[in-house]
Amino acid sequence: MNFKFPVIIIDEDFRSENTSGFGVRALAEALENEGMEVLGLTSFGDLTQFAQQQSRASAFILSIDDEEFGDGSVEEMEAALKSIRAFISAIRFRNNEIPIYLYGETRTSKHIPNDVLREMHGFIHMFEDTPEFVARHIIREARSYMDSLPPPFFRALVNYAQDGSYSWHCPGHSGGVAFLKSPVGQMFHQFFGENMLRADVCNAVDEIGQLLDHTGPVAASELNAARIFNSDHSYFVTNGTSTSNKIIWHATVAPGDIVVVDRNCHKSVLHAIIMTGAIPVFLMPTRNNLGIIGPIPLEEFHPENIQKKIDQNPIANFCLGPKENSGKDPKILTITQSTYDGILYNVEIIKDVLNGHIDTLHFDEAWVPHAAFHDFYKNMHAIGENRPRANDTIIFSTQSIHKLLAGISQASQILVQDSKTKRFDHNIFNEAYLMHSSTSPQYSIIASLDVAAAMMEPPGGKALVEESIIEALDFRRAMRKVDKELGDGNWWFKVWGPNDIGPDSEGMTHREQWLLNPEDDWHGFGSVHENFTMLDPIKATIVTPGLNLSGEFNEEGIPASIVTRYLSEHGVIVEKTGLYSFFIMFTIGITKGRWNTLLAALQQFKDDYDKNQPMWRVLPEFCSNFPNYERVGLKDLCSQLHDVHNRNDVAKLTTEMYLSNMEPVLRPADAFASLARGKTERVPIDDLEGRVTTSLLTPYPPGIPLLIPGERFNNVIVRYLRFAREFNSSFPGFEADIHGLVVERDESGCKNYFVDCISDKR
Ligand SMILES: *Cc1c(COP(=O)(O)O)cnc(C)c1O
Repeated sequence: MNFKFPVIIIDEDFRSENTSGFGVRALAEALENEGMEVLGLTSFGDLTQFAQQQSRASAFILSIDDEEFGDGSVEEMEAALKSIRAFISAIRFRNNEIPIYLYGETRTSKHIPNDVLREMHGFIHMFEDTPEFVARHIIREARSYMDSLPPPFFRALVNYAQDGSYSWHCPGHSGGVAFLKSPVGQMFHQFFGENMLRADVCNAVDEIGQLLDHTGPVAASELNAARIFNSDHSYFVTNGTSTSNKIIWHATVAPGDIVVVDRNCHKSVLHAIIMTGAIPVFLMPTRNNLGIIGPIPLEEFHPENIQKKIDQNPIANFCLGPKENSGKDPKILTITQSTYDGILYNVEIIKDVLNGHIDTLHFDEAWVPHAAFHDFYKNMHAIGENRPRANDTIIFSTQSIHKLLAGISQASQILVQDSKTKRFDHNIFNEAYLMHSSTSPQYSIIASLDVAAAMMEPPGGKALVEESIIEALDFRRAMRKVDKELGDGNWWFKVWGPNDIGPDSEGMTHREQWLLNPEDDWHGFGSVHENFTMLDPIKATIVTPGLNLSGEFNEEGIPASIVTRYLSEHGVIVEKTGLYSFFIMFTIGITKGRWNTLLAALQQFKDDYDKNQPMWRVLPEFCSNFPNYERVGLKDLCSQLHDVHNRNDVAKLTTEMYLSNMEPVLRPADAFASLARGKTERVPIDDLEGRVTTSLLTPYPPGIPLLIPGERFNNVIVRYLRFAREFNSSFPGFEADIHGLVVERDESGCKNYFVDCISDKR
């Protein structure tokens, strides 16, 4: 494949009519005659922006003869070297391999100090060789650099897609040809492009390896990712971390096993509990009154505490008998590493506390595949460079590469770290892997996993992560600046996080500032254990006015759901919306443009709110679906919603509900089985108290499951459901979304809400 990566020449005289200009243009022409693209630039410009060019260039040629570098005096030379040094270090921060040449006519390499020369692939002195000769040399280096870039699977896939062989195997579209036979198919083909379809191959093609058997280039890529992420083993998964989690569970948990699970976990983990027939005990995270999920306190992890939970678990006692049950070690512990609000745990502390008590520690790192690449996150992720093995416990990490790194949707990976005494068995593990994998994996997803890993190869990975942290900090600083400029008595949005975030101007922050400590007043999680947890600065919760950390409502308030609706009509889509907060992320795909647009839209919101603009003007699209709001003012609508929240004390209600006692009555697998057996009953909200659910009940926000199959409805949860019902009927368009609720309309068109429960009539 002919990838387009120009040679970039930086020479002030590139367009000048002097000898220096002629010389460098002769070289450019010779490069072009050999089929190389050339981009001629006349200055370094903005250094960081410029250094980004390393991602699309095949080589750099820097002239040291420029006019601005003067007449050859010592000072002029020093100045010249200073800009060259700055440029080189900006490039090398991101890229160790790209060829960089110095080019001189009047100056020679003896003018250049060693520290600069060392970073060079050569010094071009144009009078010594012909431009053609020099061009061929540069092209050879540039090509060999380019050739070193593609990791194994991507390389094999590109080659395969290019070589134009006819296929008789599936997929049936035969490299896209099927689409060309119909008009709408043509549109599809034009939209996605030929390569995507040519590269959509099936596993009958042996030369690019088999994902399910881990052979050939696929295996080489998984090995490459293991090396880059510093794990002992790695598995690419093309069905998301939802599947990665289930694979680990099916490989390690059998029916009736006791398992320990973060109550704040992804639903795939709850699905795994159901599928494996495990008996779960839960670790309870803290939660502040803004609705932000905090860390699980360190005490919760202590083996004595876990044992107590097991001893008190009615299902465990019922299924295993209290005697059998007591002293039985749990099989796996799964925690959400990085909660949905960005809290990270110190994994070394958890390993120390639990070593020898649990066979498998599983960190669901869907949100932190970036952490392994920067010291900022030292020990705050499961597996990485120089991380000691646990004695008896195998460590797993599951990562959604598509969430934070450059994977396409569903790109996920499993990383494994062996323990000192227990060896991880690939063959056994792969049986579970096969159970959850399609026999027709999507090869673009595998290629994106391969490329995403290669992108993080040092030093590029660190640079990418550091850049996204700095963007996140710049956003936080910009938000504070607006706040300050508006002055006292003027409301503004706050970004949740430590008060001190490091230098005010720009640049990196200190890791210590992001650690949660007991004396901090910003997090609202009470007495956390020192240095045990930290907030990831790239995860930003933006708090809207109206509710304070103690759960008390102010007179006036701006519910977040209105702000995020407003933002979405202004082209800004947020990750998740809470009651008085919403959440955004600074991934490695962040740009200044993106967060500046958000900042501008927030300012616009404030403006429209203060003027109480009518809804039809500020949210026209929303109003076309819900015309009832057309004439309501933005501020008035906020007040109406806020008053309802306030009257029902919703912040405390939802906190209380998540911390309320969830009584397990049946093993989740048994409760779920009643669905298939038709042993369920659709129970209206008002009759739910005391009933046992067969579905997962998950309110959005926050998207954390509230009840799992086999648990009993308590009074607080029913109160919340009643509130949600009232709220939904009063404010269509702003409905609280609760997965697991069945909505049915009666004859009069009224919505009625039910939950499927274990039937009372057995
Ligand atoms: C998103 C998510 C998953 C599932 O990942 P997918 O790649 O979307 O399947 C698992 N765990 C957590 C904590 C998540 O946030």
